[in-house]
This record gives sequence, C-alpha cells and structure tokens, in this order.
Amino acid sequence: MISVTLPDGSIKELDSGSNGFDLAESIGPGLAKSAIAMTVHQEQRDLCDPLADGDLVSIITVDSEDGLEIMRHTLTAQVLASAVKNLYPSSKLAIGPTIENGFYYDVLFEEAISSDDLESIESEMRRIIKTESKIEKSYNGKQEAVAKFLNLSESYKAEIIQESEQEDNFQIYEQKDSGFIDLCRGPHLPSLSHIGEFKLTNISGAYWKGDSKNQMLTRIYGTAWKNKKDLKAYLTRLEEAEKRDHRRLGREMNLFHLQEEGPGAVFWHPKGWTMFQKLIDYMRQKQNAAGYQEVNTPEILDRTLWDKSGHLEKFGENMYLTQTPDDRVFAIKPMNCPGHVQVFKQGIKSYRDLPLYLAEFGKVHRYEPSGALHGLMRVRAFTQDDAHIFCTEGQITEECVKVTKLVLDIYKDFGFEDVVVKFSDRPEKRVGSDEIWDRSEAALKIAVEAAGLDYKLNPGEGAFYGPKLEFVLRDAIGRDWQCGTIQVDLNLPERLGATFVDSDGERREPVMIHRALFGSVERFCGILIEHFAGRLPFWLSPTQIVIASITDEANEYAQLVKDRLLSSGVRAELDPRNEKISYKVREHSVTKIPVILVVGKREAEESTVAVRRLGGKAQDIMSLDQAVQQFVKEGCSPLELQS
Ligand code: ZN
Repeated sequence: MISVTLPDGSIKELDSGSNGFDLAESIGPGLAKSAIAMTVHQEQRDLCDPLADGDLVSIITVDSEDGLEIMRHTLTAQVLASAVKNLYPSSKLAIGPTIENGFYYDVLFEEAISSDDLESIESEMRRIIKTESKIEKSYNGKQEAVAKFLNLSESYKAEIIQESEQEDNFQIYEQKDSGFIDLCRGPHLPSLSHIGEFKLTNISGAYWKGDSKNQMLTRIYGTAWKNKKDLKAYLTRLEEAEKRDHRRLGREMNLFHLQEEGPGAVFWHPKGWTMFQKLIDYMRQKQNAAGYQEVNTPEILDRTLWDKSGHLEKFGENMYLTQTPDDRVFAIKPMNCPGHVQVFKQGIKSYRDLPLYLAEFGKVHRYEPSGALHGLMRVRAFTQDDAHIFCTEGQITEECVKVTKLVLDIYKDFGFEDVVVKFSDRPEKRVGSDEIWDRSEAALKIAVEAAGLDYKLNPGEGAFYGPKLEFVLRDAIGRDWQCGTIQVDLNLPERLGATFVDSDGERREPVMIHRALFGSVERFCGILIEHFAGRLPFWLSPTQIVIASITDEANEYAQLVKDRLLSSGVRAELDPRNEKISYKVREHSVTKIPVILVVGKREAEESTVAVRRLGGKAQDIMSLDQAVQQFVKEGCSPLELQS
C-alpha cells in the first residue's frame, strides 16, 4: 500500500503501483470521468504516471486554468498536427505550443496554404476529435526516438531530439486510433473525449527556431475553450478588440506610424504628439504637486557606468551599445536610474534632504526580439514617466504608500477603477545578497499591506535590483494591461556609490524607490486609444473641434470661429472644402473628432454655431460666446477640474 496526500490535507490509501487514474477513481466516479492530468508535488504529470508513497497529489480537470491549457496543448499537438498530416502527408511538423487563449503549430508545407484552407483543416480536426481516441505515452531512448521520427520524415522532431542534452526518457504520445505520434514533455489528455470547443483563427509565417537564417514555416493559430459559451465570448471579445486596434485607429486618426527602418520606434505625427504631450503635461502637474523635481540625464553613457550598476551583466541582452570614433563604448540608456544616482551624488546629501524625488520623462531603448513588437504596446524605444525616490530604510513604507495612492488616483482620472496589483519577488538574474533581498521584499510587502491593497504573487518577476509592485489595468473590454510599477532597491545606490550623512553623522546608502505610473507613455497612449475605441476624452483629443462651413459665404465667419477657439486654447481646425455637409460630418467621425461646429449663412449673420457631437444626431445651436466658454471648460484635464 501507498498513501498520498490530497490538496485538502486528507490522505488516500492506494495499492502500490497505482497511478492517477486509480486515485481519481478512488475519490469518486465524477472525478474519474473528468480527470485529465494531475500535479505531483506541484509538477504536472500524466494520469498514467505511477504514484509513490508520500506524494502530494492534486487531480486536474478542464475546469481549471491548468486543465484548459493541457486541453489546448493536446488539441494542437495531437489533433491539429494529425489533421495537417492527414490532409498534407508531405508536410513536416515543427513545434506546437499553447499561448494565451489558444495555441499554434508551426508546419513546413510543400505548397503554401492560405487562411481559406483552415476550414478544411478544422473539419478534419472535428472528425479526429469524434473518434475519442485514447492517447498513450511511451518512453524512448535517444536513438530510438530519432529513428521513429526520421522514419516518418519528421526531420524537425529528429533535430529537437538530437540537440537535446537528455539521453533517455523521450516521451512520445500516440493516438491509439490513428497511430499518430508526437514528441512532447506532456502532460496530455488521456483521450480526445475531453476536447472542448475550438476555432482556427489565422495563419502567419515563422522561422524555424525563430531564426531568420532558417526556413520559413507556416504558423497556424487557434483558440480553444471548455465550451461553446466561452468560445463565443472570446470571439466576440476578439472582434471588439479588432475594431479598437490602436494600429488601425492610429492610421485613421493620423496619430503615428511605424516603419521597417525603425523597428519598435514610433514616428509621432502632429496629432499623436499632441495627445502624447497632453499626457505628459498632466503627469507633470500631478507629480510636481506631489513634490517631485524634474531632471534630464544623458541618453548615452560610458559602458563603465553600466558595468558598475550591473545593467550590462544582468540586462545586457536588452541593451544597445554604440562605439564612437575614439573607440569609447557607450550604452544607450535602457533605464534612467544610474543617471539619477549621478544627480543625487552631486554635493553632500544629509538625512534632512530625504526623501528626495527626482523625475524624468526619459526616453529609453530596450532591445526586444522583433517577433515581440506590437504597435505602441511593445516597442524598443519609449518614454517612461520615471522617477526615483531617494529615502532612508525607515521611510520606505510611507513613501510606497504615497506612490500607490498617487498611481490609483491617476488611473481613476482616466476611468480605470479596476486595478490589480501584482507583487514580483526576486528573479533568478539579480544583484545583491539574499539578506538584502529579504529586507527589500519585506519592506515592500509591509508597504502594499499598509496601503490596504490586495495583491497577487508573481514569483521571480522582480527587477534585477529589487522587488516590484505592478499595477494592472482592466480596459473597457476586459483586457488586462500592466502599466505602472514601484520597485524597492537596496542595491543600486551602493553599487554606484551614493551616500548621505545620517542624523548620527554616519554615512549611509539611501534606498531608491523606482516608480513609473503610466509606465511607457507610448504604451499608455495605445491602451487609451483601444480603451476609448478612439473616442478620446475631449481634453486629450488632438483636434477637439472641426468647423465645417456649409457654403463659401460662411468661410470668413468659420475662420473667425476658429481664431476665437484657438486663442482660447481650444484645438480647432477648419474644413472649408466645397463638399456636402453630410460628407464632411461622416469623414470627421471616422477620425473621431469629438465636436463639429457647422456654420452657414444664418449662423454667420446671428453669430451662432450648430454643435454636433461625435456619435450624436442632434444639433445644438449656441451663440459663439457661449460655445467658446463651453469648450474651454470641456477642454480642462481632470486635474484642472479638481483645482
Ligand atoms: Zn529606475
């Protein structure tokens, strides 16, 4: 007999040699039916794996996140892959992992396929699922495994095995009905009867091993869910997301563009830059009022500084280096912190100077793989609304609480009330002793609790110099975006030689609290565009008002209206084109202009304007004076309205 412990602490006695199936059955017939895999001491395993005395076991069903992911995995690795092989026998399979909400499979096709072919692949997948085939696992030695795949001309699979450091125990999963095999770490569903609802969504190109020197493969994407309802909800969300795609809206609204010569770097057009500047103005006012002082530090600094700070060692793969004609090597800053420490180090600082708040709208460059780039959301060059608080260890809690209040306050101004906080602790790649990490994690934990916030643990995701809090916003269609961070750092000041004279006359190192609230201003712009589906709040709209004249006779008056608005600080443009008014209104609606003032002969004579709001049908007649007053008021930022 063996005994295993269940998650609720209860103990199950089983015959020795029992596996996960036996355990599920001994718990009850319902679980025996829905069980798809298990975790043994936190590690995911197949139900067919034997259990040992003393194991801590938890059964997985498709109802959990883990279970859903295993289902998606089997769907791609077994069902999609075998469907492709059935329809395209000469294709070669590469890899098929799960991703958020779904999965993909990379395949080399003899002749290119298009998205029109997805339908037939889908129906072949449905046919395979209906077989409810069992899936069984075997362990294979290296040569044996290589031979099996070479025999099927699956050269990518053979290559993966050959390049593995492992010598034995390669897991091969076989679909009993068809004999289809795939190499996999597992676990997999025990049978295809557990597959839920799915849809293939699109195809794209991808290089083998992500290396552009290698062969280009076809990547087939899909999404899978437990049931029809979840699938439908997801597809609706996807459709809604497509309508809000900031890259498309950015084009339609003439905000920005990206081009191949500047991968991950944004070309802001006048309109987009106006929005960007409005956000910076807002943040500047907000943080100045909270006692921050703005600085500006160099974009490139000698590599010796980045060696000292630890960036080159721990963050080097994300950094751009540049060499000057005199053979000095500089790093383009990926962070502003070392620069701020240099400002702090000027002159002797005393405990009375602390806390000291230094802020910078700093442009940073971080190399990201090109596959990860996505519009404004994931870039290589971006502007942080960055600040560093230099304080004593005793001030950490109070300062962190202040920052959390500030950040939540700011998000509220943009309509984000649903904010999740994540606590990221020490990563594998880090500087500083464990003792220092113990202290900084404890301090940040006390702070987040003092601020009265619930948080989720995000293990191993801290910055290399300290633990961090991440603030995750939920947008209008339920998507999560990580924006602001607060990091407690007991490492960098020491590495860069920053000290202050404490009240007892001793020199000590200050603590550095790193914080960015929007995070990346570029990304925050992208999030706002999608959250508002392009209908930005009036105060943020690049062009707030277009004055559209009905006839040429009203053009002179229209110009006067524009001048009045401009001189009152309202961002107005004129549309004097000789087009029908309905045409003008439609066109400006596409570019999401919040207000159109229609003026004709009568308006000119009476000094009035007809106000049409985006999406509205009604037309309000106002006197020009009234209108100017009204739009000056509407153009105030939430901050200006509060004061
Ligand atoms: Zn920093």
